[in-house]
Amino acid sequence: MKPDLAVEPLASWIKTDGKPLIIAGPCSAETEEQLCETARQLAQQNAVHVIRAGVWKPRTRPGSFEGMGEAALPWIQRAKAETGLPFAVEVATPEHIELALKYGVDILWIGARTTVNPFNVQEIADALRGVDVPVLIKNPVNPDLALWVGAFERIAGAGITKLGAIHRGFSTGESSKYRNIPMWQLAIELKSIFPQLPMIGDPSHMAGKRAYLYELAQMAMDLNYDGLIVESHIDPDKAWSDAAQQLTPAAFGEMLDHLHIRTVQSENLEFKGALEQLRQKIDNTDRQLVEMLAARMALVEKLAEYKRDNNVTLFQPDRWKEILKTRTEQAKKFGLYPELVEEIYKIIHMESIRKQTEVMNSAEA
Ligand code: PEP
Ligand code: MN
Repeated sequence: MKPDLAVEPLASWIKTDGKPLIIAGPCSAETEEQLCETARQLAQQNAVHVIRAGVWKPRTRPGSFEGMGEAALPWIQRAKAETGLPFAVEVATPEHIELALKYGVDILWIGARTTVNPFNVQEIADALRGVDVPVLIKNPVNPDLALWVGAFERIAGAGITKLGAIHRGFSTGESSKYRNIPMWQLAIELKSIFPQLPMIGDPSHMAGKRAYLYELAQMAMDLNYDGLIVESHIDPDKAWSDAAQQLTPAAFGEMLDHLHIRTVQSENLEFKGALEQLRQKIDNTDRQLVEMLAARMALVEKLAEYKRDNNVTLFQPDRWKEILKTRTEQAKKFGLYPELVEEIYKIIHMESIRKQTEVMNSAEA
């Protein structure tokens, strides 16, 4: 089944004057004062299009602050009235949706811990049937693209057309300087499945730490994301959730000022020509790469026939060690990451073992 999604363009439901959509606000609505003052200071930045706040906080461990719930919704009404800005809130159950809409929340988002669960996503989809509200869907906690795709299919299946993706990074169990590893290629893959889907970067939940926000926000801009969602709090160190990754509204404004927003210069013919030339060179290089791979595989096949006919074992650990060592050393000489070349060789080796097994088990010619 080829997935297809009816998506309204971002510009049809939120005005950003052609600029990236900027959503900012505290991780959680804590008190009326904290929420309204953060919203007021963010609105002063003149670059923020939507305020965000968590009202129901799905926490990985119990005992952390789990949100103020319905009590925070009147504060949102006040913050909206004072700033004139629309508001986005995370919802995880039909009850959250009902309450959020009752209090005039403008945009809903589905959190990473909800996207992982198709039961929850379907319940949310059922509750959204017949409602015209924008819904943003965060990537699931684990790097499973199908879950993210499935969530869009379920929500779109309920008739929601104002859709967007939030890329907040993944928990993989591997250690990283980031709280959640971005794995940009997964967001790019989602975009290639649903090209019309707006992609919003969430550097806050990727970073986990203020220090990394800028580089991640810049990366999202370089990848031509449609917007950013960033956590901002009037007193970040005292935040009740995600304290280490939040910025004051002023620091947030400064970060935005320093971001390079590169436009796709579709009108500049000279630029397009240069780009086209480089792409052709890349195409040629890639063709050579594929040819070389095929040539290598043909040699492997010959080798396997030879091993079979002489009763030699297929896998020889010393040879594999030597291949890895010499190839990564060569990589270093050419300024390539040895880890990259190592990963590529692991895949090539897997295929080469598969091929050799096939040959070894076939009859001698
Ligand atoms: C949040 O946006 O505050 C949040 C809980 O994010 P995530 O679902 O990405 O963990
Ligand atoms: Mn948060």
